Amino acid sequence: MIRLPGLIDPHVHVREPGQTHKEDWDTATSAALAGGVTTILAMPNTKPPIFDKSTLDLALDAAKGKARCDYAQFVGAGPDNADIAASLAPKAAGLKMYLDSTFGELRLNDMTLWMPHFQKFPKEHPIVLHSESRTMAAGILFAAIYDRPVHIAHISLKEEVLLIKAAKERGIKVTCEVCPHHLFLTTPSPNSEGIGGELGRGRTEVRPRLATQEDVDALWQNLDVIDCFATDHAPHTVQEKDSDNPPPGFPGLETLLPLLLTAVDDRRLTMDDIVQRSVINPRRIFNIPEQPETYVEVDEDSKYEIKAQDQFTRCGSTPFEGWQVKGRVRRVVLRGKTAFEDGRVLANPGDGKNIRE
Ligand SMILES: [Zn+2]
Repeated sequence: MIRLPGLIDPHVHVREPGQTHKEDWDTATSAALAGGVTTILAMPNTKPPIFDKSTLDLALDAAKGKARCDYAQFVGAGPDNADIAASLAPKAAGLKMYLDSTFGELRLNDMTLWMPHFQKFPKEHPIVLHSESRTMAAGILFAAIYDRPVHIAHISLKEEVLLIKAAKERGIKVTCEVCPHHLFLTTPSPNSEGIGGELGRGRTEVRPRLATQEDVDALWQNLDVIDCFATDHAPHTVQEKDSDNPPPGFPGLETLLPLLLTAVDDRRLTMDDIVQRSVINPRRIFNIPEQPETYVEVDEDSKYEIKAQDQFTRCGSTPFEGWQVKGRVRRVVLRGKTAFEDGRVLANPGDGKNIRE
C-alpha cells in the first residue's frame, strides 16, 4: 500500500447549476473521492454561466449543500464583466477565459475584450486560458505584455508544448496542464476497438480534439514542461454522446489516478511525477491551502478493468472502458475522516469545504 497526498484536479465541469442530468455537486465530488481527488476547481460554463456575484453564489450555494470533497469555483470572463470578475477574485478559484470557443455570456470575440481582464484581474490570482494552437501563442503574448501569470488549460499538441517550453525559457510566467485522454488516446481510426470504432464517433468528441501519435509522443517527451495533470472532467449522458450532434467532453475523475499509476508500473512516470503535477504544482499555481490529515491509500499491485458501470459520475460512460489498469484507490481520508473506502463513498454531502472561504 502506498500513501499519497490528496490529489488536486484544477479542471472539472460539475454541470451544476443547470445540467444536473449530466452531473451535480454530489456526483462530481463522489467521483473525485473515488479517484483519490480531494480538491476540485470547478469551471464556469454552467447554465447560467458563472460571471457575476449572483451566479457565483448560485454555484457556491449548491456546492455548500452537496459537495463531499473540497472545492473552489472559477468565474468566467465575459465581454463586459472585467471589473466584477476582478472584484470576485478572492472568492473564486481564478478567472477562466475561453479564447477559442464562444458561448453565451462567456464569449470573447476579439482581443480588445481580453485586454480589460488582463489589466484588472489581480496578478496574485490565476487566469486560466482555453486557447488552442495559435490562440495559445496570443495568450502567452498577453502574459508577457501584461507581465502576469497565465495557466494554459489542457494542452494537446506538439506545437503547444514546444512553444510553452520556449516561453518558460524566456521567463514568461506561463504554466500548463495536460489531460489523461491527451496522454493515453490518439485520433481514433474508424475501425478501431472501443471509442471511435464500435462505440461510435460521438464518444471521441472532446475539445481540444484527440491528437496524433506524434503529438502524444511530444507531450511525454516534454513532461518536464507540464506543470499539472488535470482531467477536464466533462460528463455528458450516453444518449447525448451517441446522438447526431454529440457534445465534446469526457468524464475523467475516476480514471486519472489508475491510469497514472499504470504508467508508473510501465516505467513511463514516477510517483514523484504524479505528486508534483497533481499536488505540489497545482497547490502553488492556484494558491490552494494544505489539507491537514488528508491522504489517499493506493494498492499499487491491484489490477482491474475500467468499467463505466462502476463509476460514481452520472454520465454512464468512459473513453477508457475495458482498459486494464494496475493501481487501485483503496481509501481516502479527508481532514481526518475516511471519505472513501473499498468502493464506497463515506463522506456526506456538505462535508466538502470551499477553499476560498
Ligand atoms: Zn474544460
